[in-house]
Amino acid sequence: MSNAHDNKKYRIWRAEIIRRDKRCLICDSIKNRTAHHIDSSAYFPEERYNVENGVCLCRFHHTMYHTSYNTSFRKKVDKKNFCNFLEMMIKISEETNYYCKDKMIKFKAKLED
Ligand SMILES: [Zn+2]
Ligand SMILES: [Zn+2]
Repeated sequence: MSNAHDNKKYRIWRAEIIRRDKRCLICDSIKNRTAHHIDSSAYFPEERYNVENGVCLCRFHHTMYHTSYNTSFRKKVDKKNFCNFLEMMIKISEETNYYCKDKMIKFKAKLED
């Protein structure tokens, strides 16, 4: 499926997301940063290298997100799923004051626009 050209485009896309966001959207960590495709790249190929379709998550929250919908990173998720996940994390942050509540609210509003 992937070739050297696609891999290079993917690495550029990923680096651009991390450079832009700098921190995990959920917990503000700068450790173990990954770039998540909001609309799954396998199911929305036209969105694969769109930086607007990416968000920086730490590895922990990236895994948490995917496993809350399915058991694999390969199954389909989209914008709606991500908004639902953010809603859940915002609720948790209201109780614990631990996560980046304001950042998540802003990001969710932008997605729902
Ligand atoms: Zn995180
Ligand atoms: Zn992901």
